[in-house]
Amino acid sequence: MVDTIDNLLHESRRFPPDEAFSAHAVATPALYEEAAKDRLAFWAAQSRELLHWSKPFTRTLDWSNAPFAKWFDDGELNVAYNCLDRHVLAGNGDRVALYWEGEPGDSRAITYAELTAEVKKAANLLTALGVEAGDRVAIYLPMIPEAIVAMLAVARIGAVHSVVFGGFSAESLRARIDDAQAKLVITADGGWRKGKVAPLKPAVDEAIALDHGDGPAASVEHVLVIKRGENDVEWTPGRDLWWHDEIAQVSDEHTAKPFPAEHPLFILYTSGTTGKPKGILHTSGGYLTQAAYTHKNVFDLHPESDVYWSTADIGWITGHTYVVYGPLANGATEVIYEGTPETPGPGRWWDIIEKYKVSLFYAAPTAIRGFMKQGRQIPQARDLSSLRLLGSVGEPINPEAWIWYREIIGAGRTPVVDTWWQTETGAIMVSALPGITTLKPGSAQVPLPGISVDVVTDAGEPVGPDEGGLLVITEPWPSMARGIWGDPDRFISTYWEMFRDKGYYFAGDGARKDKDGEIWLLGRVDDVMNVSGHRLSTAEIESALVAHPLTAEAAVVGAADDTTGQAVVAFVIIKDSQRANTGTPDEVAVALRNHVAQQIGPIARPRQVFVVNELPKTRSGKIMRRLLRDVAEGREVGDTTTLADTAVMQVIATAVK
Ligand code: ATP
Ligand code: MG
Repeated sequence: MVDTIDNLLHESRRFPPDEAFSAHAVATPALYEEAAKDRLAFWAAQSRELLHWSKPFTRTLDWSNAPFAKWFDDGELNVAYNCLDRHVLAGNGDRVALYWEGEPGDSRAITYAELTAEVKKAANLLTALGVEAGDRVAIYLPMIPEAIVAMLAVARIGAVHSVVFGGFSAESLRARIDDAQAKLVITADGGWRKGKVAPLKPAVDEAIALDHGDGPAASVEHVLVIKRGENDVEWTPGRDLWWHDEIAQVSDEHTAKPFPAEHPLFILYTSGTTGKPKGILHTSGGYLTQAAYTHKNVFDLHPESDVYWSTADIGWITGHTYVVYGPLANGATEVIYEGTPETPGPGRWWDIIEKYKVSLFYAAPTAIRGFMKQGRQIPQARDLSSLRLLGSVGEPINPEAWIWYREIIGAGRTPVVDTWWQTETGAIMVSALPGITTLKPGSAQVPLPGISVDVVTDAGEPVGPDEGGLLVITEPWPSMARGIWGDPDRFISTYWEMFRDKGYYFAGDGARKDKDGEIWLLGRVDDVMNVSGHRLSTAEIESALVAHPLTAEAAVVGAADDTTGQAVVAFVIIKDSQRANTGTPDEVAVALRNHVAQQIGPIARPRQVFVVNELPKTRSGKIMRRLLRDVAEGREVGDTTTLADTAVMQVIATAVK
């Protein structure tokens, strides 16, 4: 069996840490030394240092019921207290927690004292509505401050939130309400998107009313509605309640009660890139420990002076860990933005960075490639000099996109950290540490101190230098998923069965280790192509395509082929500035096929290159290659429920015919 992925691409650019940056860096090499000495003692020390434990823990890890971990399990804490009250009690109540920017241009600055008071009121309201510890609450909201208030209020009373991305349909919302048996839904009339109000409440009404033979949603007792869009909404008296009416009637006194470390905190469904989303369960103490630890060290957070901005929606894990829990546990000042990057014009994100003097910025490669497509003059017309660190998450970042990000957004001086992790891992696992690691564009690089990751063959043996294989996590970690909600067997079969005898967690991603032992993500294992017995990764061929001056974005898939088993088929988007002088589609295809062959070898030369205007993406911006494979092989296109824009596949299928 050919059990490694062929390694094709060679990227040799290196960026050593800047001395001035290193001199003030939060992370120090001592972290690696301490974690290597005694991993569990390291995590226990981090947890005690970063969090307030109402009842200190004495046990660090209980792995006796593997793969269902318990961390710090005899300790007690309140997650919301850790994100709010303790900062106020420490004298930082006047520090801004949230700079909120609405899409139409309205804004609010909310201090830690104000946010704490809001959450206390909301906690009282939830209790008044009969929500108790352990009950599930669905949250279906735009990016407004109340979204964060709602999440923290749920956490404060020990209930469990299930945030559903506001762009999901009534069907998707209903499936998630049913799966978690949510008692309460918190929503808004609507939110601003692309210059107009996108209604949300109608989707909630429809979701609850849907009847697939078992009647309307029976678990939902109340729908709490925040006024944001000012759009007209229908009302079910008794069930529906206006947030502003209710919140005005409750006290802002609320004492946070501690809960056990393993008390459930939230359920969150994965992005659905590869198939049906999984309801991932996270608990309190271990999750918050790793959220705070990674946010502080990977983003070099100086909470007194930094302004941090993660552009992720709270509907994704990045929004949970790096908009809500990590930054607020660390007392950071952060920006949240309601709308899309191109409203009212393409430079909106850069305007926001300039306005709030954002210093730490975290975004996804899909957005970065989108900006590359539009051209550098847009960011270059803004003052981005406040930035001192850039982060990337969600997909492999191609070396060309990494270089553009650093040069054009980071003025050629900011570190760029490529952070690999998943909904299931809860927090960052593999990333450079700024000020310590010499950066390699396109590589996620090294496991964080305290994290044990390897790249192995199908048989579970470590791959040799410069070989590709499967990414695994070899030891339990504090923020690991505690299961799939209601489906423990699926948790075991999806992640733990593959390497059962070794006890490794199988991430589903391909990767290679370079000669220094550092990690390069190669894409999903499901997407690996087998061409004449060579296993080729999507990430490397896409990187080569994006390195061509014509190409803004690319996706490749393996399609059945009579002679080679599978053949590489590429779908590319041309940069706006290049559209006028690209030549015919056939000429483009020839140029790009030759370019790939020359960059990484004839074996990788695409059989076909299709020029398209859009690629199919999930709502969190990840390319859904399985749909492109359906098109490339002339099949009916599969399940598109997690696709951001369902019309895209029609257009692509027509273009290919
Ligand atoms: P599903 O599991 O339902 O198919 P998903 O895997 O897209 O959805 P997420 O948990 O949001 O859901 O995404 C995690 C995945 O995103 C990782 O497994 C990996 O494939 C990809 N990813 C995230 N960060 C990086 C990164 N820095 N480099 C490469 N890939 C990344
Ligand atoms: Mg996944």
